[in-house]
Amino acid sequence: MRSKIVAGNWKMNNNSKETKTLVKGIRKSIKKLPLENTRVLVAPTFVNLMSAIKRIKKSKVEVVAQNMHQENNGAFTGEVSADMLKSIGVKSVIIGHSERRSLFGETDEVLALKVTKAINEGLEVIFCFGEQLEDRKSNNHFTVVKNQLEKGLFHIEANAWSQIVLAYEPVWAIGTGETASPEQAQEMHAFIRNLLQEKYHTSVADNTSILYGGSVKPSNAEEIFSKQDVDGGLIGGASLNVKDFTDIIKAI
Ligand code: PEP
Repeated sequence: MRSKIVAGNWKMNNNSKETKTLVKGIRKSIKKLPLENTRVLVAPTFVNLMSAIKRIKKSKVEVVAQNMHQENNGAFTGEVSADMLKSIGVKSVIIGHSERRSLFGETDEVLALKVTKAINEGLEVIFCFGEQLEDRKSNNHFTVVKNQLEKGLFHIEANAWSQIVLAYEPVWAIGTGETASPEQAQEMHAFIRNLLQEKYHTSVADNTSILYGGSVKPSNAEEIFSKQDVDGGLIGGASLNVKDFTDIIKAI
């Protein structure tokens, strides 16, 4: 059975003290929630991963990284490897966030290498993808998403899919306050699940969690999460506030 997941992407926010406060707040506020089959993930910046990990011990919160490099080690100034993440207890990594693609030039080809590396290192991958506004306006959103999955992810063997979580994030909805309607999200998630069935197997399609991301907030979370193929959310802005993030977790 696939898990429900609420993941907070903290991006380049929170210094050391703020990270500690936020982790502590979330940990406390979800302590008594009945989180059956539901995972809560937070993704601090690299420098704050270790202190966050220390503070989630014996709690239901998991700490994930926002990115990693595809090589083992070497002359890659400013980068962090899978082995480094694993060595401090990180078990999951976000790959392909739209900001990595658009602001840092990460191509489908580079993302495919990162995915392979993470899988081979035993990390779980939260793979992000989604169309631009003009793709949707020109009715190309299904083609764009299919291409991103084919190029970045579909080289993975069926048995590695237990290490993959998908996050459909229409770029026009990220950080804009504009959200895909629950129907638009469901339509795309069903399309993606169907692709998994065609390319792999019913078991891969049924067991892969597909998250929606793009301006999810307490006021719209319940309606989006109520859709059959939406298994949770990747949350940016609203994950920086304990109450908002907790309310979104409650919505699931
Ligand atoms: C994100 O960064 O993945 C995201 C979905 O951000 P926001 O919730 O702020 O739109």
